[in-house]
Amino acid sequence: MKIHLNQLSHTYDVEVLSNLSLDLEGYSSVAIIGVSGSGKSTLIRLMSGLEKPTSGSISVNGHEVDEEAYRKKIGFVFQNHNLFPHLTLKQNITLVLEKTRGFDKEEASIIAEKYLGMLHLEDQLYKLPKNVSGGQAQRASIARALSINPDIIFLDEPTSSLDPILTDEVLRAVEELKGLGKDFIFVTHVMGFVRDFADYVIFMDKGKIVEQGSPSILDHPQTKELYEFMRKVR
Ligand code: ADP
Ligand code: MG
Repeated sequence: MKIHLNQLSHTYDVEVLSNLSLDLEGYSSVAIIGVSGSGKSTLIRLMSGLEKPTSGSISVNGHEVDEEAYRKKIGFVFQNHNLFPHLTLKQNITLVLEKTRGFDKEEASIIAEKYLGMLHLEDQLYKLPKNVSGGQAQRASIARALSINPDIIFLDEPTSSLDPILTDEVLRAVEELKGLGKDFIFVTHVMGFVRDFADYVIFMDKGKIVEQGSPSILDHPQTKELYEFMRKVR
């Protein structure tokens, strides 16, 4: 994919992203790492077009991220699964496909089962989110993101509310998606996953990109900030 950030800044009550510029081309799996509060979620939300920057511009694959055409071709997986609590895992997907993508019931059913199966949930189709594990619910939300056939999937700390076993289960399932030919932009604190899955890493600190490059930057920090971060997460 191609990512272009041009002097991007974002302010809530204080400035949380300051003047980021970035030009990436040819990577398919970009990790954003950094301590809590460094601006990772803000950046990923801006890149997905969920929120508008205070100033500067963002284009991804040649589209300005506020274009309708772009918004229709991305999926977003949040920290907490965000599934509708009163719908089964399958209905959580068929509803989206029928209401927002114009699929009929039968098509929606086939697509929902295909992606839930891909995330190893074929025997959980008719359960409510509260009756499955946190890892299963999070995998269902990944299946939902995939079901609209996006070009890019954004994941913002998809395992932050899970224990280590469920974290591993979710991240392995994501790794299995590599063959789908989708692009991924994700925030995580699991450095093993960054090493295995990312082909580019952006390290943020206090609203700036402080280091970037291949996952090998994790092993050879050039800045005090990344060095300290790696000591904490390891
Ligand atoms: P990270 O994901 O790296 O933890 P965030 O992008 O969530 O960082 O937050 C960066 C900073 O912006 C934090 O100081 C946070 O408190 C602040 N912030 C995030 N979202 C909002 C918001 N909606 N309103 C006000 N401040 C916010
Ligand atoms: Mg965050």
